[in-house]
Amino acid sequence: MGQKSLQFSPESETVSARQGLWILFGTVGWPPRWGILERGTTLITAARVAYSQNVGKRPTKTADGGGELDLLRAIRRRAAKGARGRDLRLGIGDDCALLRPREGEELAVTTDLSIAGRHFRLEWHPPEVVGWRTLARGLSDLAAMGARPVAAFLSLGVPRELAVGAEDSKSWVDRFLDGFFSLAEAYKTPLAGGDLAEAPVALADVVLIGAVPRETALLRSGARPGDLLYVTGSLGGAVAGLKMLAELAVAEPGPMPDQGNDSLSAHLRPKPRIQTGLSLRRGGLATAAIDISDGLSTDLRHLCEESGVSAILQADRLPIAAEASLEQALHGGEDYELLFTACPGTRIPRSIAGVAVTQIGEIAAANQGKPALMLATGCIVEPLEPRGWEHFSAR
Ligand SMILES: [Mg+2]
Repeated sequence: MGQKSLQFSPESETVSARQGLWILFGTVGWPPRWGILERGTTLITAARVAYSQNVGKRPTKTADGGGELDLLRAIRRRAAKGARGRDLRLGIGDDCALLRPREGEELAVTTDLSIAGRHFRLEWHPPEVVGWRTLARGLSDLAAMGARPVAAFLSLGVPRELAVGAEDSKSWVDRFLDGFFSLAEAYKTPLAGGDLAEAPVALADVVLIGAVPRETALLRSGARPGDLLYVTGSLGGAVAGLKMLAELAVAEPGPMPDQGNDSLSAHLRPKPRIQTGLSLRRGGLATAAIDISDGLSTDLRHLCEESGVSAILQADRLPIAAEASLEQALHGGEDYELLFTACPGTRIPRSIAGVAVTQIGEIAAANQGKPALMLATGCIVEPLEPRGWEHFSAR
């Protein structure tokens, strides 16, 4: 955070002398409060930052009374107080972060975009929940590869009013960061950089860097016919929780809960299966893995396509969450559990790193080279159409 915002090339913005002075004084105050400037930040840079972020208007006031630079400084302070990682040599404050992976490791990198109205709703999801879920989505991808988290990068775009706190209260952004940092702390993931901009809708883009010993990452492409299919935790809880949240929002508009029963919590505060992914990789237990972010049926199809195999799910074996239906367990997204395959001879414990593991089916040969999904209910075996989350889909 702060890196890209303070990283303007001389050609990137043209600021007239009058605009520059007005913006500069708007930013640092009059008489100028020189202390606001970061070490090494020139006055012209400060003016350009203020100009580009405020398009010539008076800078936004944040809850602590400062402008955008204050917000960046506050984020930097919080990041410095948060999780530290020995792979992160240099975090927020320079043009780039510096990472130093350990000998013999390779980096796993994933990015995930959350947009208001698409991935969350401002009227349904408390900002802390949006912050938590933003990071959880990235961490879950690392878990699926068996990678340990090294650093996170967060870019936030928000309408002006979300960066401003009402009298004596935190802004939406401050509360978003509360949720983000609480999960980052729990998973020892330092925030190492990012960007901040005014935007017409709230959006959060997170990049997660993980590390894994060379050639050992869990891949989607390793499943073979005869392998058994497993899933962690329970299924369908997140989408059942989302339905509850939507009903609650209609019945009792106003501040929404940020936790609740199991399903509501599964939706609001998903727990990425990092430790389970690490154990699967270290133990050489899995032949292929993927996290269930788009729904079991859709993510199983991804795994089958990458491995060139088919799969048969056993309906009566699915660990369906208490408030969820079979339909929700099959197609509901955002459970952030791990779906993996293992050789039939591999002994898979019933629980790994404290998370239940259930065998839910098996892998079969592709049908004339075409991966197929089947659902077995008792003696009846039927084709299963993936109906999970898919952007730009006509469904
Ligand atoms: Mg994923």
